[in-house]
Amino acid sequence: MIHVSNLTMEYGQEGSPLRVLDNLNFSMERGDTVAIVGPSGSGKTTLLQLLAALEQPTQGHIKLDQQTLSELSTDQLADFRRDNMGIVFQSFHLIDSLTALANAALPLDIAGKPDATIRAQSMLESVGLKDRAHHYPQQLSGGEQQRVAIARALVHEPRLILADEPTGNLDEKTGKRVADLLFELHAQSQSTLVLVTHDMRLAKRCKRLFCLESGKLRVEDNHELSA
Ligand code: ADP
Ligand code: MG
Repeated sequence: MIHVSNLTMEYGQEGSPLRVLDNLNFSMERGDTVAIVGPSGSGKTTLLQLLAALEQPTQGHIKLDQQTLSELSTDQLADFRRDNMGIVFQSFHLIDSLTALANAALPLDIAGKPDATIRAQSMLESVGLKDRAHHYPQQLSGGEQQRVAIARALVHEPRLILADEPTGNLDEKTGKRVADLLFELHAQSQSTLVLVTHDMRLAKRCKRLFCLESGKLRVEDNHELSA
């Protein structure tokens, strides 16, 4: 489903660039759950942003099904991302002036779907926030805000779910509930879940572990889960 070839990412000036990702090659299958782990600054967020096509790599290509991301224009990329990807950030990134319902409906609204509100309502129910639909983000706890963010990321049934430390700003118990929810919703779909995390317990729930260090990637398959 995802094929990454010779992926290199450098930041900084021409003369002495900082090479964050050094010639990575990997694939992910539909339905995979992948945890990206590694020390702070090892390029986890950079890799996720490249997969989301929010950044352009210095070298190399990313192919999602038949589509090579670098062949799309900025406008085409925005459409492609909207139709195929759901992204969850550590700091939720909800829109403060919109209710939980309107936040969750956003991807469908932008795509002009007439059933946006009904589908967002049912997604809020799935994340346990039926009675919070008309609350604004400021009126919700951190865990509730992250659940709205998950509803928004999954409401359009994306084939690729990307989450950057989705439990990083939550206490342990709330974090576990949010992670449970993410895995539950993933299991109901045929999507691919890619999760950046510091938490090895969370990482171990994924079928595959991608360990980033010094620009290189080591892939470990979790045979207990994949068996
Ligand atoms: P992680 O998510 O694993 O903590 P990041 O992908 O955020 O790591 O960052 C990897 C490295 O790239 C860090 O050294 C960081 O300072 C650097 N970096 C990240 N984004 C930029 C940027 N936009 N410009 C310059 N350097 C950056
Ligand atoms: Mg990061």
